[in-house]
Amino acid sequence: MNLKRKAIWDKSNGHCWYCGEELSERGWHADHFLPVDRIDGKMTLPENDNPDNLVPACASCNIIKSNMDIETFRWLISNFVKRLNRDITVYRHAKRYGLIKETGKEVKFWFEEGALDAEKK
Ligand SMILES: [Zn+2]
Repeated sequence: MNLKRKAIWDKSNGHCWYCGEELSERGWHADHFLPVDRIDGKMTLPENDNPDNLVPACASCNIIKSNMDIETFRWLISNFVKRLNRDITVYRHAKRYGLIKETGKEVKFWFEEGALDAEKK
């Protein structure tokens, strides 16, 4: 791992900034916490493309978050269960058979759960 990636990795001691999954040393993404976007190959919000704004993320969180800000990403995840109930028949069956229990839990990201402080100790 090069020094730039190691500095990003060390921000969470190798956890996904969002879901908290332990990252393997290969395959993780450096996510722009404040989003950037590219239109016709040209970066929008280039001020967000700096090392202080890069956090380690698992590939799936980074891909789902895409160019969203954190509150839009939270909103998207908070609707996953609604979408499962609306769209996925086997999900509804599994729920009826008691295989799945919905918690109604609010979406909290790893970096919001005090995990950062725990990692620094
Ligand atoms: Zn993740």
